[in-house]
Amino acid sequence: MTAPGVMVCRAQFLLPLAGPNRGERIHDGYVLSEGETIKEAGRYTSAIGERLIGTYGASLCIMGRFQPDGDASRLQAGVGERPSGDAIPRLHAVLLPAFVKAHGHDHEQPIIGIAKDEPLTAWLDHAVNPFAGFINHHHDELARELGDSPRSITYRMARLCDIHYGITTSMVHHCTYNKYHCREIAAANEAAGTTMIVAIGGQDRHYVKEVLDRPQDALERLRTAIGIPGLERTSFCPGPDQVFSNSRDMLIPLKAWAREHDTLFHIHSAEEPRTTRWFSEAIEPGLSEVEFAESIGILDGGTVLAHQVNCGPRDVRILARTGAKIVHNPLANTILGSGMPPIMEMIAAGVPVAISTDGSGSADNQNILAAARLAAQYQKARHQDATLLPSQQLLEMITSVPAGILRQNQGELAPGRRADWILLALDRPNLIPTRLDNLMENLIWAADGSEVVTVVARGRILKDGGRILPFRDGITPEQIMASTQRLSELFADYRRTAPELRGTGVHQ
Ligand SMILES: [Zn+2]
Repeated sequence: MTAPGVMVCRAQFLLPLAGPNRGERIHDGYVLSEGETIKEAGRYTSAIGERLIGTYGASLCIMGRFQPDGDASRLQAGVGERPSGDAIPRLHAVLLPAFVKAHGHDHEQPIIGIAKDEPLTAWLDHAVNPFAGFINHHHDELARELGDSPRSITYRMARLCDIHYGITTSMVHHCTYNKYHCREIAAANEAAGTTMIVAIGGQDRHYVKEVLDRPQDALERLRTAIGIPGLERTSFCPGPDQVFSNSRDMLIPLKAWAREHDTLFHIHSAEEPRTTRWFSEAIEPGLSEVEFAESIGILDGGTVLAHQVNCGPRDVRILARTGAKIVHNPLANTILGSGMPPIMEMIAAGVPVAISTDGSGSADNQNILAAARLAAQYQKARHQDATLLPSQQLLEMITSVPAGILRQNQGELAPGRRADWILLALDRPNLIPTRLDNLMENLIWAADGSEVVTVVARGRILKDGGRILPFRDGITPEQIMASTQRLSELFADYRRTAPELRGTGVHQ
């Protein structure tokens, strides 16, 4: 594939979400990217259009013009406009930074809708771990049946779901059996064109015995992963699965590795009330998971905790003091009955909080706008205060805030940032009327997530006209979806006779 060129996109509305004036709402805006980087972003004028065409000539890719029939409205699944004299069509859409997902799992899409109405540990035993075991133990026969590795299909399907909802960068917590398969997830990400940090999982206690291992095994996995050649958009960091499933013997050397290699360190913490209570009573008596993590020295600005639902005032003070970051996953936390974390208290204490979706198995989708909406609804109701978490802050919590946590140069439409941006079509009944003054609010409260019609990552188009393009190696979304459907049917057959799995948390 050739390198991305120079591209301009003009839309009816632009939300840069950038710089000191991050609340700016622009009517008639544009973004210009060169290669993987944004060169210009701001209000469009005819003079700008003439300058760009004069400067770049035929090498300028104009979104909405180079369709076979020249019909801009076809390209954007919206009503494109060509105000008189303009060479660059104005698309009936809102242009904003692509979303950043700071916590998810790419091995769960085939199990959406399975083992619902159960708490976390039962769901792990009934859905996630059996599926992960199924595609690993039966890998060869499934690969023959499906014509591709079931893991590869699963990981690619997750990439499709991210692109569908406008997520171009993610931290994927590669847990349980998946930790052995870093090459395959990296290959899926490289082919999809997204950017990914793979937090490589691991555990040495209180988990399905088959996946327990030793610190030297976990360190060796990291060493092997960072040696995978040819990766342009995939990196790795330690990602021990849960605080309760890792002893200090595992956590201390993994955090040391992260410090030595200047990477993040990612872990689930205090997700579910029963497990959190059991941890403090039986595993590390008298200590919360955060207190334990601090006591062994693994909390700092590079530590990213998923969830932290069951979190007291002492824990919040520790998070603020150490600089640890939080990823809040309201869809999973409510569906699994885990509760919701005190994110207003965290934010007030200065703890960075990103909103994310978690894996598709618990969420059961990657609609990050819906996650942001739910986070706000819950906090407004819990505190009986409608002023909390206004739309602009929520949009930042799925763009610039997670980009900062993941140390990614995106999340804002500004010169020098990575060219990751999306268009949401406005020609949908649920978004009529949209004006400058209700634009951010409509994205949070009225959009359903399916309005993301165009996705650009690193200056390359991944989705346009509402359709995801074939991956860089030629595999089409239709092939991936058909294989995933078949894989889920095979898993349903297997589940009927599979032995029951128990072992996630000894408190059961
Ligand atoms: Zn998770």
